[in-house]
Amino acid sequence: MLTVSDLTVAFGPTVAVRGVSLTAEAGTVTGILGANGAGKTTTLLGILGHVPRRGGRITFDGRDVTALDTRALVRAGIALCPENRRLFPSMSIEDNLLLGAYGQPRATRQARLARTYERFGWLHDRRAEAAGRLSGGQQQTVAIARALMSDPRLVLLDEPSSGLSPVAVEEVGEVLRGIARDGTAMVLVEQNVRLVERLCSTAYVLAHGQVTASGPVDELIGGDAVSDAYLGTG
Ligand code: ATP
Repeated sequence: MLTVSDLTVAFGPTVAVRGVSLTAEAGTVTGILGANGAGKTTTLLGILGHVPRRGGRITFDGRDVTALDTRALVRAGIALCPENRRLFPSMSIEDNLLLGAYGQPRATRQARLARTYERFGWLHDRRAEAAGRLSGGQQQTVAIARALMSDPRLVLLDEPSSGLSPVAVEEVGEVLRGIARDGTAMVLVEQNVRLVERLCSTAYVLAHGQVTASGPVDELIGGDAVSDAYLGTG
Protein backbone atom coordinates (compact mmCIF):
# COMPACT_ATOMS: atom_id res chain seq x y z
CA MET A 1 0.00 0.00 0.00
CA LEU A 2 2.82 2.42 0.96
CA THR A 3 6.28 2.15 -0.51
CA VAL A 4 9.02 4.53 0.54
CA SER A 5 12.20 4.28 -1.51
CA ASP A 6 15.46 5.90 -0.57
CA LEU A 7 13.99 8.75 1.50
CA THR A 8 16.54 11.36 2.54
CA VAL A 9 15.78 14.38 4.71
CA ALA A 10 18.34 16.95 5.80
CA PHE A 11 18.14 20.04 7.96
CA GLY A 12 20.97 22.15 6.62
CA PRO A 13 24.12 20.09 7.13
CA THR A 14 22.36 17.53 9.40
CA VAL A 15 21.18 14.52 7.44
CA ALA A 16 18.42 13.20 9.73
CA VAL A 17 17.14 10.45 7.39
CA ARG A 18 19.53 8.78 4.97
CA GLY A 19 18.15 6.60 2.19
CA VAL A 20 15.33 4.96 4.16
CA SER A 21 13.19 2.43 2.28
CA LEU A 22 10.17 0.69 3.78
CA THR A 23 6.77 -0.73 2.89
CA ALA A 24 3.47 -0.94 4.76
CA GLU A 25 0.60 -3.24 3.81
CA ALA A 26 -3.16 -2.82 4.30
CA GLY A 27 -4.52 -4.26 7.53
CA THR A 28 -1.09 -4.52 9.12
CA VAL A 29 0.89 -2.42 11.58
CA THR A 30 4.47 -1.79 10.51
CA GLY A 31 6.83 -0.81 13.31
CA ILE A 32 9.74 1.63 13.28
CA LEU A 33 12.02 1.20 16.28
CA GLY A 34 15.04 3.22 17.29
CA ALA A 35 16.61 5.38 19.97
CA ASN A 36 16.09 9.10 20.54
CA GLY A 37 17.28 11.06 17.55
CA ALA A 38 17.47 8.01 15.26
CA GLY A 39 15.28 9.77 12.68
CA LYS A 40 11.92 8.10 13.34
CA THR A 41 9.83 11.27 13.54
CA THR A 42 11.64 12.79 10.57
CA THR A 43 10.88 9.65 8.53
CA LEU A 44 7.13 10.06 9.20
CA LEU A 45 7.24 13.79 8.49
CA GLY A 46 9.26 13.10 5.34
CA ILE A 47 6.64 10.64 4.08
CA LEU A 48 3.97 13.29 4.61
CA GLY A 49 6.02 16.01 2.94
CA HIS A 50 6.00 17.97 6.19
CA VAL A 51 9.78 18.45 6.04
CA PRO A 52 11.62 19.06 2.79
CA ARG A 53 12.91 15.84 1.25
CA ARG A 54 16.33 15.80 -0.31
CA GLY A 55 15.56 12.61 -2.20
CA GLY A 56 13.31 9.61 -2.36
CA ARG A 57 10.13 8.32 -3.87
CA ILE A 58 6.79 7.66 -2.17
CA THR A 59 4.08 5.50 -3.73
CA PHE A 60 0.67 4.97 -2.18
CA ASP A 61 -1.80 2.46 -3.59
CA GLY A 62 0.38 2.07 -6.67
CA ARG A 63 0.40 5.80 -7.40
CA ASP A 64 3.50 7.96 -7.26
CA VAL A 65 2.64 10.63 -4.68
CA THR A 66 6.15 12.03 -4.25
CA ALA A 67 5.20 15.41 -5.68
CA LEU A 68 2.04 15.87 -3.58
CA ASP A 69 2.05 18.32 -0.68
CA THR A 70 0.88 17.36 2.81
CA ARG A 71 -2.70 18.50 2.24
CA ALA A 72 -2.98 16.43 -0.94
CA LEU A 73 -1.46 13.41 0.81
CA VAL A 74 -4.07 13.67 3.56
CA ARG A 75 -6.77 13.85 0.88
CA ALA A 76 -5.22 10.79 -0.77
CA GLY A 77 -5.74 8.87 2.49
CA ILE A 78 -2.68 9.29 4.72
CA ALA A 79 -3.13 10.69 8.26
CA LEU A 80 -0.64 11.56 10.98
CA CYS A 81 -1.16 11.09 14.69
CA PRO A 82 1.64 13.33 15.92
CA GLU A 83 4.09 12.99 18.77
CA ASN A 84 2.78 14.27 22.12
CA ARG A 85 -0.82 14.08 20.85
CA ARG A 86 -1.06 17.83 20.10
CA LEU A 87 -4.60 18.21 21.37
CA PHE A 88 -6.05 21.59 22.30
CA PRO A 89 -6.59 20.96 26.02
CA SER A 90 -9.12 23.72 26.66
CA MET A 91 -11.22 22.86 23.60
CA SER A 92 -13.94 20.22 23.83
CA ILE A 93 -13.29 16.66 22.80
CA GLU A 94 -15.72 17.12 19.91
CA ASP A 95 -14.01 20.25 18.62
CA ASN A 96 -10.65 18.47 18.78
CA LEU A 97 -12.09 15.59 16.78
CA LEU A 98 -13.59 17.93 14.19
CA LEU A 99 -10.15 19.37 13.47
CA GLY A 100 -9.30 16.01 11.89
CA ALA A 101 -11.96 16.65 9.23
CA TYR A 102 -11.14 20.32 8.79
CA GLY A 103 -12.23 21.71 5.42
CA GLN A 104 -14.73 18.92 4.75
CA PRO A 105 -18.39 19.73 4.10
CA ARG A 106 -20.53 19.84 7.24
CA ALA A 107 -22.44 16.66 6.36
CA THR A 108 -19.16 14.75 5.92
CA ARG A 109 -17.83 16.01 9.23
CA GLN A 110 -21.02 15.01 11.02
CA ALA A 111 -21.04 11.55 9.41
CA ARG A 112 -17.43 10.95 10.46
CA LEU A 113 -18.17 12.19 13.96
CA ALA A 114 -21.10 9.74 14.19
CA ARG A 115 -18.83 6.91 13.07
CA THR A 116 -16.20 7.92 15.65
CA TYR A 117 -18.80 7.88 18.42
CA GLU A 118 -19.98 4.48 17.26
CA ARG A 119 -16.46 3.15 17.69
CA PHE A 120 -15.72 5.01 20.93
CA GLY A 121 -19.00 5.32 22.82
CA TRP A 122 -17.35 6.99 25.82
CA LEU A 123 -16.18 9.85 23.60
CA HIS A 124 -19.80 10.60 22.79
CA ASP A 125 -20.71 10.66 26.48
CA ARG A 126 -17.88 13.09 27.24
CA ARG A 127 -17.87 15.03 23.95
CA ALA A 128 -18.50 18.45 25.53
CA GLU A 129 -15.70 18.11 28.11
CA ALA A 130 -12.36 19.83 27.69
CA ALA A 131 -9.85 17.39 26.19
CA GLY A 132 -7.32 18.38 28.84
CA ARG A 133 -9.47 16.79 31.55
CA LEU A 134 -8.96 13.30 30.15
CA SER A 135 -6.29 10.87 31.33
CA GLY A 136 -3.17 10.46 29.18
CA GLY A 137 -4.44 7.23 27.59
CA GLN A 138 -7.82 8.78 26.85
CA GLN A 139 -6.15 11.83 25.29
CA GLN A 140 -4.11 9.52 23.09
CA THR A 141 -7.32 7.81 22.00
CA VAL A 142 -8.77 11.22 21.08
CA ALA A 143 -5.61 11.96 19.05
CA ILE A 144 -5.99 8.65 17.21
CA ALA A 145 -9.72 9.23 16.68
CA ARG A 146 -8.94 12.71 15.33
CA ALA A 147 -6.52 11.17 12.80
CA LEU A 148 -9.28 8.77 11.73
CA MET A 149 -11.62 11.74 11.11
CA SER A 150 -9.82 12.35 7.80
CA ASP A 151 -10.99 8.86 6.73
CA PRO A 152 -7.47 7.58 6.06
CA ARG A 153 -6.39 4.23 4.69
CA LEU A 154 -2.98 4.66 6.28
CA VAL A 155 -2.25 6.22 9.66
CA LEU A 156 1.27 7.25 10.68
CA LEU A 157 1.54 7.12 14.48
CA ASP A 158 4.37 8.87 16.28
CA GLU A 159 5.07 7.30 19.69
CA PRO A 160 1.49 6.86 20.90
CA SER A 161 2.76 5.25 24.13
CA SER A 162 4.88 8.28 25.05
CA GLY A 163 4.33 9.44 28.63
CA LEU A 164 1.65 6.82 29.34
CA SER A 165 1.36 4.38 32.22
CA PRO A 166 1.65 0.66 31.40
CA VAL A 167 -2.13 0.27 31.79
CA ALA A 168 -2.76 3.17 29.41
CA VAL A 169 -0.30 1.70 26.90
CA GLU A 170 -2.38 -1.52 26.98
CA GLU A 171 -5.55 0.51 26.32
CA VAL A 172 -4.00 2.34 23.40
CA GLY A 173 -2.69 -0.98 22.07
CA GLU A 174 -6.23 -2.35 22.04
CA VAL A 175 -7.50 0.73 20.18
CA LEU A 176 -4.80 0.30 17.53
CA ARG A 177 -5.49 -3.40 17.20
CA GLY A 178 -9.18 -2.64 16.52
CA ILE A 179 -8.26 -0.15 13.80
CA ALA A 180 -5.91 -2.64 12.12
CA ARG A 181 -8.66 -5.28 12.20
CA ASP A 182 -10.85 -2.91 10.17
CA GLY A 183 -8.23 -2.95 7.40
CA THR A 184 -6.53 0.39 8.01
CA ALA A 185 -2.77 0.24 7.53
CA MET A 186 -0.55 1.79 10.18
CA VAL A 187 3.07 2.75 10.54
CA LEU A 188 3.93 2.83 14.23
CA VAL A 189 6.99 4.71 15.44
CA GLU A 190 7.78 3.51 18.94
CA GLN A 191 10.46 3.23 21.55
CA ASN A 192 8.23 0.79 23.42
CA VAL A 193 9.47 -2.52 22.04
CA ARG A 194 6.70 -4.46 23.79
CA LEU A 195 3.98 -2.50 22.01
CA VAL A 196 5.65 -3.12 18.65
CA GLU A 197 5.92 -6.80 19.54
CA ARG A 198 2.20 -6.93 20.32
CA LEU A 199 0.93 -5.07 17.28
CA CYS A 200 3.37 -5.37 14.41
CA SER A 201 4.16 -8.24 12.13
CA THR A 202 7.06 -6.43 10.46
CA ALA A 203 9.37 -3.75 11.78
CA TYR A 204 12.34 -1.64 10.83
CA VAL A 205 15.15 -0.55 13.11
CA LEU A 206 16.57 2.93 12.56
CA ALA A 207 19.91 4.19 13.83
CA HIS A 208 21.57 7.44 12.78
CA GLY A 209 18.92 7.98 10.12
CA GLN A 210 19.44 4.62 8.43
CA VAL A 211 17.65 1.29 8.44
CA THR A 212 19.98 -1.11 10.25
CA ALA A 213 17.63 -4.11 10.24
CA SER A 214 14.14 -5.09 9.14
CA GLY A 215 11.97 -8.16 9.03
CA PRO A 216 9.43 -10.13 11.05
CA VAL A 217 9.16 -8.64 14.55
CA ASP A 218 9.74 -11.91 16.35
CA GLU A 219 13.04 -12.30 14.53
CA LEU A 220 14.13 -8.69 15.08
CA ILE A 221 13.39 -8.35 18.76
CA GLY A 222 16.17 -9.81 20.81
CA GLY A 223 18.50 -9.36 17.85
CA ASP A 224 21.63 -7.24 17.81
CA ALA A 225 20.16 -4.37 15.76
CA VAL A 226 17.48 -3.63 18.36
CA SER A 227 19.85 -3.80 21.32
CA ASP A 228 22.49 -1.75 19.47
CA ALA A 229 19.89 0.89 18.60
CA TYR A 230 18.75 1.21 22.20
CA LEU A 231 22.14 1.01 23.82
CA GLY A 232 23.46 3.51 21.31
CA THR A 233 26.18 1.14 20.20
CA GLY A 234 24.87 0.82 16.65
P1 ATP B 1 12.79 11.05 19.22
O1 ATP B 1 12.47 9.70 19.70
O2 ATP B 1 13.66 11.81 20.17
O3 ATP B 1 11.63 11.82 18.68
P2 ATP B 1 13.54 10.43 16.48
O4 ATP B 1 14.09 9.09 16.20
O5 ATP B 1 12.12 10.67 16.16
O6 ATP B 1 13.82 10.79 17.99
P3 ATP B 1 14.08 12.74 14.92
O7 ATP B 1 13.23 13.64 15.76
O8 ATP B 1 13.58 12.32 13.61
O9 ATP B 1 14.48 11.46 15.74
O10 ATP B 1 15.49 13.47 14.75
C1 ATP B 1 16.55 12.94 13.94
C2 ATP B 1 17.69 13.93 13.89
O11 ATP B 1 17.31 15.09 13.15
C3 ATP B 1 18.14 14.43 15.25
O12 ATP B 1 19.54 14.55 15.20
C4 ATP B 1 17.49 15.77 15.36
O13 ATP B 1 18.23 16.63 16.19
C5 ATP B 1 17.48 16.25 13.93
N1 ATP B 1 16.33 17.13 13.64
C6 ATP B 1 15.02 16.79 13.71
N2 ATP B 1 14.22 17.84 13.36
C7 ATP B 1 15.07 18.87 13.08
C8 ATP B 1 14.87 20.22 12.66
N3 ATP B 1 13.64 20.73 12.45
N4 ATP B 1 15.97 20.98 12.48
C9 ATP B 1 17.21 20.49 12.67
N5 ATP B 1 17.46 19.22 13.05
C10 ATP B 1 16.42 18.42 13.27
